[in-house]
Amino acid sequence: MPSLAKGKSSREELAENLNEELRSANEQLQNLNEELTVKVEELTRLNDDLDNLIAATDIGTLFLDLSGRIRRFTPAVARSIALTEADIGRRVFDLKLCLDYPTFDDDLYAVLAGGLPVEQEASIAADGRVMMVRIHPYRRADRALAGAVVTFVDVTRLTAAERRLQVYINSLPHQVAVVDHAGIIRLTNAAWKRFAADNGGRPDRTGTGVDYLDSCVAAGASAAAAADGLRAVLRGERESFTCEYPCHSPTEFRWFLMNVAPVEGGIGGAVISHINITDRKRGEEDLRLAASVFENSGESIVIADEAERIVSVNRAFSELTGFAAAEVIGRSPRVLLSGRHDGGFYRDLIESTRDTGLWRGEVWCRRKGGKSFPVWMTISLVRGEDGRMSHLVGVFSDLSGRKAAEQRLLESNAELEQFAYVASHDLREPLRMVASYLGMIERKLGPAVTPDLKEYLGYAVDGARRMDALILDLLEYSRVGRGAPHTRRFALAEVIARASGNLKVAIEESGAELFVAGGDLIAEADGEDCLRVLQNLIANAIKYCPPDRQPGISISCRSEGEMIAVSVADNGIGIPDSQFDRIFRMFQRLHGRQEYGGGTGIGLAICKKSVERMGGTLRVASTVGMGSTFTFTLPAAAAV
Ligand code: ADP
Repeated sequence: MPSLAKGKSSREELAENLNEELRSANEQLQNLNEELTVKVEELTRLNDDLDNLIAATDIGTLFLDLSGRIRRFTPAVARSIALTEADIGRRVFDLKLCLDYPTFDDDLYAVLAGGLPVEQEASIAADGRVMMVRIHPYRRADRALAGAVVTFVDVTRLTAAERRLQVYINSLPHQVAVVDHAGIIRLTNAAWKRFAADNGGRPDRTGTGVDYLDSCVAAGASAAAAADGLRAVLRGERESFTCEYPCHSPTEFRWFLMNVAPVEGGIGGAVISHINITDRKRGEEDLRLAASVFENSGESIVIADEAERIVSVNRAFSELTGFAAAEVIGRSPRVLLSGRHDGGFYRDLIESTRDTGLWRGEVWCRRKGGKSFPVWMTISLVRGEDGRMSHLVGVFSDLSGRKAAEQRLLESNAELEQFAYVASHDLREPLRMVASYLGMIERKLGPAVTPDLKEYLGYAVDGARRMDALILDLLEYSRVGRGAPHTRRFALAEVIARASGNLKVAIEESGAELFVAGGDLIAEADGEDCLRVLQNLIANAIKYCPPDRQPGISISCRSEGEMIAVSVADNGIGIPDSQFDRIFRMFQRLHGRQEYGGGTGIGLAICKKSVERMGGTLRVASTVGMGSTFTFTLPAAAAV
């Protein structure tokens, strides 16, 4: 039986071993089962989370496989682009999405082919909402491409805000761009775009999406400083940055001011503005110029404010008056009064300046130290924008030198006149002697005078006579202007009548006809000067007439502002234009000694001198063969 016992024990042992192994396998299975249950629970929870996330999210999401078939989508997508459960499994390319995104299919193909993500704003045709559509590759855990995820984010409110911002910045006259933290242009206003367009600007340098820092660098060395400034603001190293820079075009002188203001200390980017400051620059330039003209002017300039306090004087002022600027600024211009004029003079000066805005005249001023000197002064009134006086500007120059020269001239003229007068007188005496002794010689010789000798004696006497006539004319010329003029009021008709009366014989002999117009005008001048002029002009009108023509003389008087113009027109031989100047010079005749009744050529010189003494002018107009018109002016009498 041992063998039997032994065999039993082996079977038992085997059974026990098997039993043990089974128990252990069972335990392992139990453990595995428990682990699996936990994993399934975890997965279920994750799936629930995902389902809840998908149901709850407002971001529309579309999961597509590699062929573009819809695997699943969030309810938000269904709302946005009208998808239904029935669309699951259909290719998105075959659906007609109600989305204004013309390149959607191309962009999706590109991503499904392994391309980079694409982002695009698109509006929904049905309700006008604006979506930010992003097509992103879908990758499995092993990074293998398995399709695409398309998300739809409603940016309607955001774009409305952006539009409002655009409207605000468009209303700014300056050129404005907003850049992000990296210096990329995100927004530009209308002025910015206009400026870029007007200047042939390239959108790749100034449009949205462009790196402004790169653009600055590309614009050249001068813009590099602007790039540095912008960079410093974006990094938060500077609170702001400004710079003025010239930007001249071929036809225009232009200056700009660039300003960079950070958004959230630079983290949010910056606002860049360019302001056209050309007018200001030009104004500054003009001011600099005006200041230079003011300072370097040869004329003395003094500027007083409305309270009549000196606010500014130039260098010439200090040199002429001896007052340094600091000594007179803040003081009244009265510091310059010489005391040579009475109160009435200054009152008139001030009133005239206030009434007409301008006063000009000669004034005596005082130098520092008390010495007075004459100046020619122009005072002009400057008005502010409100039309009231803001400043008085006095510009003056020293007349001392001119006065002295004038005085010297007056004295030498007087001496000359005196000399001419005396010389003429003294010359006539020996002339008379020559003429009378020639007559005596002729008488003494009696019948012994040969015809030749008689002729020679005749020439000598004629010469002496002509010389006498010349001396008389010279005397007459020197007499004009001697002594003060006898100014009086007279009607022109009165002087015309006297002149024609004096010329009665010549008028009758020549058969001349005189016509007078405007003779009732009243002049205020020296009547003798006027008579001399008229008489000379009428005499010439009779004299310079062709022998076969009856002289017709028309005298007309008319008002010319504060003057009266008197014209003496004839129908005589006329004068060539080239001789207009010459005929007014002394002893200048255009004809032979015997022609047109002879003459010394001094008449018109006397006329000119007389007219100028009356404060008028003398001119001629003529057509050869047709006649001449001499016109002179003299002061009209003031109305009483
Ligand atoms: P005079 O008559 O003694 O020669 P004037 O000085 O009066 O001197 O004139 C100068 C010149 O001007 C004259 O010689 C004449 O040639 C010219 N002249 C003057 N008046 C007239 C006129 N009315 N018509 C043409 N020529 C004139």
